[in-house]
Amino acid sequence: MHRLFSFILFVIFIPLSFGSEDQQRLINADADKANWLSHGRTYSENRQSPLEQITADNVSSLGLAWYFDTGTHRGLEASPIVVDGIIYTTGSWSKVFANNGVTGELLWSFDPQVPKAWAINACCDVVNRGVAVIGDQLFVGTIDGRLIALDRLTGEVIWDQLTIDNTKPYTITGAPRVVNDTVIIGNGGAEYGVRGYVSAYDVKDGSMRWRFYTVPGNPALPHESAAMAMAAKTWTGDVFWQVGGGGTVWDSMAYDPDLDLLYIGVGNGSPWNRYIRSPGGGDNLFLSSIVALNATTGEYVWHYQTTPADNWDYTATQHIVLADIELRGEKRKVLMQAPKNGFFYVMDRTNGELISAQNYVPISWASHVDIETGRPVETENADYRGDPQITKPAPFGGHNWQPMAFNDNTGLMYIPAMENLSVYNTPQEFEYLPGGHWNTGQDDKAAGDSPFAQMDASMLGPVLKHLMRGRVIAWDPVKQQEAWRIEHETMWNGGLLTTKSDLLFQGNGTGEFVAYDATNGERLWDHYVGNGIIAPPVSYEVDGEQYIAVMAGWGGAVGLVFAQPEAIGGGPGRLLVYKLNGDTQLPVEPIVRPLPQPPAVTGDEAAVANGQVLYLQHCMRCHGIGAASNGVIADLRYMSQGSHDMFDEIVRGGIFSPLGMVSFADVLDEQQAKDVHQYIIAMANSKWEHDQSPAWVRDTKDWLFDKVGAAAALFM
Ligand code: CA
Repeated sequence: MHRLFSFILFVIFIPLSFGSEDQQRLINADADKANWLSHGRTYSENRQSPLEQITADNVSSLGLAWYFDTGTHRGLEASPIVVDGIIYTTGSWSKVFANNGVTGELLWSFDPQVPKAWAINACCDVVNRGVAVIGDQLFVGTIDGRLIALDRLTGEVIWDQLTIDNTKPYTITGAPRVVNDTVIIGNGGAEYGVRGYVSAYDVKDGSMRWRFYTVPGNPALPHESAAMAMAAKTWTGDVFWQVGGGGTVWDSMAYDPDLDLLYIGVGNGSPWNRYIRSPGGGDNLFLSSIVALNATTGEYVWHYQTTPADNWDYTATQHIVLADIELRGEKRKVLMQAPKNGFFYVMDRTNGELISAQNYVPISWASHVDIETGRPVETENADYRGDPQITKPAPFGGHNWQPMAFNDNTGLMYIPAMENLSVYNTPQEFEYLPGGHWNTGQDDKAAGDSPFAQMDASMLGPVLKHLMRGRVIAWDPVKQQEAWRIEHETMWNGGLLTTKSDLLFQGNGTGEFVAYDATNGERLWDHYVGNGIIAPPVSYEVDGEQYIAVMAGWGGAVGLVFAQPEAIGGGPGRLLVYKLNGDTQLPVEPIVRPLPQPPAVTGDEAAVANGQVLYLQHCMRCHGIGAASNGVIADLRYMSQGSHDMFDEIVRGGIFSPLGMVSFADVLDEQQAKDVHQYIIAMANSKWEHDQSPAWVRDTKDWLFDKVGAAAALFM
């Protein structure tokens, strides 16, 4: 009788107390070897596949099983989800695709029909990092701020919920997470001026269960939570709440079901410049913080601020990994992150206690993190008021959204890291004008005085190549030091996957998908795919066969802004799936773009200089620094005569709005648009002259610039 009673109790109470069957499947995702059920594979987000069929010994016979064209040429950042043989992924413009995991057959696709004009609010391309799935429901966040539930077997819409105030420049690029039968989503937009928050919606009907604001709002109104009352004490003045303050939760989350804690990564301040944002000082909570929330109620539990009073776009939205590791003879439940600011953090995830922090790339804004106070110790380089500073890392970060991977055999964290720098600049008399365009509280006029702007365009390339570099760092979180590294040709590369068989997979900016030995970084296999890869790979199994999947599509923040000569961009966006002895051929077309002879510059030096300032404010985010792109969005130096003739109709008339190129008539008058045009023509002529010079002159010049560039880089 007792046994029967206990059995009944077990049947009734265990499922109830641990949530639904579908929720239980997500909690047990690690044991579900064949599938990739949530964004980082498991709630711990470690991106380690337990599959072991593909090994260092046989990976040389890895080949393409199938590929699927997404129909776009822009950035692809999604981490696919795989459930019982179906692979779900997203493309540009928040489109969703469901393919048969074995054959690649398209089962259904869904286009949320986002207005292309909304792209003007996206700092970093119209990307999407993937879907979330529970039971037979699938969820996608859209670039125009909606969260949509679909039937995962048919692709039909179940509900469609607007999660933002659409009078403000919010966007969604991050993947939702499903926890406790709610779907959780944040948003982006801090570069344009928004207030950050994260919300939980009921999976069944899309009704909101809770919302956690990350920064305080208008002080005349009541605080939304006790946490906001606490945070408000760390802000001063009125600019922050009028502009929004920032703190957007645009990518990382992780969940510990035992603690029922949801960890969110919080973004940078809006505007970046803290002296404008909060003129009386203060840490500006919860900017650049990891915040632990009660996953059921959304209430604040603890926080750790990586960059108090952020001044540089140092988001803490980077990938969060949970693991149980042995530290000084004791098993600890830790949380690890390598945010943009360049430090690798290990903390106790039960209470937020900082265990250790060490810089993983060269940094100049701080000397170290004081473990007693948990605070970074800033250097003189941190204050750029009236005195431009060259600071490491750049706003691109020592690490951006590309996911890391943690291998519990090797004990190493693999970081898709970047070494870079930027000039931060605000003159004392700088006047900040709030406005919903790229607006970070830096002085674009003064950008013309930076050492980079003074360089000849053909010298800038080699200098930046030496200063802006990409690598994989195999990081030992116990010793807090680098074990080994893999250097890349480009700064911007793919996210990472590791396997139980000690392999490491990554795509790169030069268009290769590569397998490495996870114990030492030795390159074991590669496949040229004809397009730069930034997305993270995943692995799954169907009918006893292991597959590796990755999306190829150059773009994203760096892909648009910062043209790198070695990067391959503008190729067809694709989902690529590999298996042992796969023999599908990938059609790879060389991207040939002859430069048409540009018209002559007719404006004077002042017009070109003014055009450069306006270009940096309004055009650079999509068309690239120096009007040079990697082919994802039109390289304006290659403009046809027809486009030159219609320049004003395009830029101010908005005739290409349906493609996403909206009218800039509200910020550029006729003369200003002409100045921007003159700047672009000047950049085109600079490239034309370089390309037309005899080969031996060009080669000698390039060689010289490369050497001078390397030398110049040493002094920065
Ligand atoms: Ca940012």
